[in-house]
Amino acid sequence: MRWLKAIKYNCLEAQQNGVRNQHEYIGPVKWIKLKYHLVFCKLCKKFLADAKKLDAVIEQHTNDLSHQPSFTLSPEEKDSIKKKLNP
Ligand SMILES: [Zn+2]
Repeated sequence: MRWLKAIKYNCLEAQQNGVRNQHEYIGPVKWIKLKYHLVFCKLCKKFLADAKKLDAVIEQHTNDLSHQPSFTLSPEEKDSIKKKLNP
């Protein structure tokens, strides 16, 4: 049982490493500790699933905005800004 205590995570550490793991490589030791924690902690498992869904929604919204902005300047407004930048 001593080795189980050695790889024990607290929830804050698990959530921080779990979010990092969704974006970058966290290394094998942290990854194993995270997976072990997630076997027993349903709250962290749910938190990381929600974080993943939230990331997907934000990425989709960002992609939509870059292709179809919700606000664009009229040609007159663009000319006005250009004149102010290059008097
Ligand atoms: Zn936890």
